Amino acid sequence: MAGAIATLLTLTRAPSAVSLTVVSADSGATLPANGVPGSAGAILELVRTGRATTRGDLVSVTGLARSTVAQRIDALLANRLLVSGSDSASTGGRPPGRLSFNSDAGLVLAGDIGAMHSRVAVTDLAGRVLSQRTKEIPVAEGPERVLSWLEGAFDSLLAEAGQDADRLRGVGVGLPGPVEFATGRPVTPPIMPGWHLYPVGQRLAERFGVLALVDNDVNIMAVGEHWSRWRDEAFLMFVKIGTGIGCGLVAGGHVHRGADGAAGDIGHIHVPDQDDVVCRCGNLGCLEAVAGGSALAARLAELGLPTRTSRDVVAQVLASQPDAVRLVREAGHAIGGVLAACVNMLNPAVIVIGGDVAGAGEQLLAGIREVVYRRSLPLATGRLRIVPSELGDEAGITGAAVMVLETILSPAAVDADLVGAGR
Ligand SMILES: [Zn+2]
Repeated sequence: MAGAIATLLTLTRAPSAVSLTVVSADSGATLPANGVPGSAGAILELVRTGRATTRGDLVSVTGLARSTVAQRIDALLANRLLVSGSDSASTGGRPPGRLSFNSDAGLVLAGDIGAMHSRVAVTDLAGRVLSQRTKEIPVAEGPERVLSWLEGAFDSLLAEAGQDADRLRGVGVGLPGPVEFATGRPVTPPIMPGWHLYPVGQRLAERFGVLALVDNDVNIMAVGEHWSRWRDEAFLMFVKIGTGIGCGLVAGGHVHRGADGAAGDIGHIHVPDQDDVVCRCGNLGCLEAVAGGSALAARLAELGLPTRTSRDVVAQVLASQPDAVRLVREAGHAIGGVLAACVNMLNPAVIVIGGDVAGAGEQLLAGIREVVYRRSLPLATGRLRIVPSELGDEAGITGAAVMVLETILSPAAVDADLVGAGR
């Protein structure tokens, strides 16, 4: 199936131990292959990633004849995906002979739909936000109202920026629930009544006449964080601690969604000795019911503090309220216990902690780090960094744009576009 991700788990039972091997392989249209080595698309990728920026570099990296490289560069220049340094107006005065990716060659619309508020942006082809806006709109109002607002907001962002809709290359959107990525439809999302199997991707693709990709919000945040600061690391976990708790995985440089798009749902992993806590999923002792922002706010409210949301909890921690500090520290320990197991299983190089509760800063991070470094194996933690998110609220729109860019600018997609353009 196009876009399917095959995942194989192998359990090996040795006399003294049980070990688990995870094999995952992405294929299909959603994450196109690397294209033909030395093709125009592959050359654009070399320039775009800074691995080769002159004709001489490209000849030596690809091993192709200078005339072949020149032909491919001409096709990319004609399609405006590359600009040459001699054209100083469009390259910011780079030296003659230097090639650069033309991030003005198109636009992407990015949306991050949250439980209560949403953010939309228009970006260039380098993922730079040109303009954006936010709105308080509960996702529970249903797909018609939320998507009508989203489409109207996209239209006005394009108009405000004086941008021609003809330059639009793709739309990327994150939703706060499980999404079947290949079809762009939410699947039994717990906090999104009326959205089950709604064709979000298809609606946006038809409305804007371009590729539209839809994914779970935590996956796109993982992509945003990875792309903005950790592109040199192939294995990253992004943990969002907001009202609930979720996690996005980047493995081998790509989002790991699992066989059915359910990978990374750490909020419903069982925490030992917490069986008196009932989770909204119906199970007992889930991480989210123990350490999520909603759970912490409820517990502080029971102690008589005016807390209703994750942000209220953070405000109490930042004011050094002793019960709030203690509860957030304990939440860090519970989250760290689950993450320690994930670290042994997945061996990420970086764990990025985001979401509203991450605003509690070091009190939360210290709790997480204490347990992860104590419980994970030395080989898995020797290089491991556990860091706060730097993008904050912008991780979602950055990731939504990058999800589209990595698809439309992949070597295979660029080659197909050039063939379509007769070049
Ligand atoms: Zn649960």
